[in-house]
Amino acid sequence: MANFYTEPVLTLLSRPSFTGPEHLPVEWIGESTDGERLAEFAGRLCYMSQHNPAKRQTREYLENIKKQGHGSVLEHANYSILLEGVSRSLTHELVRHRAGFAYSQLSQRYVDESEANFVVPPAMVGDDALMATWRTQVESAQAVYVSLVAELMEHYSWVADKVHRRKMAREAARAVLPNATETKIVVTGNARAWRTMLELRSSEGAELEIRRAAVAVLRVLQQEAPGFFSDFEVYVAVDRREAARIGYHKV
Ligand SMILES: Cc1cc2nc3c(=O)[nH]c(=O)nc-3n(C[C@H](O)[C@H](O)[C@H](O)COP(=O)(O)OP(=O)(O)OC[C@H]3O[C@@H](n4cnc5c(N)ncnc54)[C@H](O)[C@@H]3O)c2cc1C
Repeated sequence: MANFYTEPVLTLLSRPSFTGPEHLPVEWIGESTDGERLAEFAGRLCYMSQHNPAKRQTREYLENIKKQGHGSVLEHANYSILLEGVSRSLTHELVRHRAGFAYSQLSQRYVDESEANFVVPPAMVGDDALMATWRTQVESAQAVYVSLVAELMEHYSWVADKVHRRKMAREAARAVLPNATETKIVVTGNARAWRTMLELRSSEGAELEIRRAAVAVLRVLQQEAPGFFSDFEVYVAVDRREAARIGYHKV
């Protein structure tokens, strides 16, 4: 039986690892992570200011970088996040964010969706009547998918390669699966790209599911690298759901 997700599941897969070159030592001040030091190192290289003349802590330095709009140095720091428990409609919106992002998503052509899970639209969570209507439709679509795959395997019985035949059957049958079908996606983005995406998708105008995921990603990244993301503020909007606003727009 299918599972029904009501929250995304996030796993941070990778963060930068920085090795400072011995011949260009930076005078680091304050707490920081490798990603933040990598960006500071890159910024300081531009002016050969490794001796830190203003005696700035790394996070103060990065605050100034954002204020000045010198955001290209943030592009050196990449973070990869595995998103699960998100819908195909969320990922359809997510992959529109092009600059500085890489994506790898579960393939509905290769993977059998007979036991796929689904994501409950946030607006329906907690409303039993809406949920019941939605669930009936989703489960019926999945049942049709299962029977279509079987019929299409017959239809393509002349295809000798069984793996290829299954792919041909699944790629046609998936047409009946709903937008709510759960998917998994690995997203790698640099800190500048994440900022732009998070600004757009955590705002009150964004669709509720991607907004909820953007706030969740923001929390992970704020903990990981405050110097890049501390100017975002999460708040509860008039619709009683969380959103975030940014301090420095599009650095
Ligand atoms: C609330 C909301 C509603 C939306 N509704 C719709 C909709 O109805 N229909 C729809 O199709 N889309 C819609 N979108 C998607 C939107 O149009 C963008 O595709 C998406 O937000 C990605 O933004 P982006 O292109 O700025 O991001 P990215 O592709 O990540 O680009 C980031 C920035 O890099 C620069 N850049 C990137 N590529 C280029 C380029 N080729 N040339 C010049 N500069 C470039 C731009 O400054 C850009 O802002 C919506 C988005 C939001 C947030």
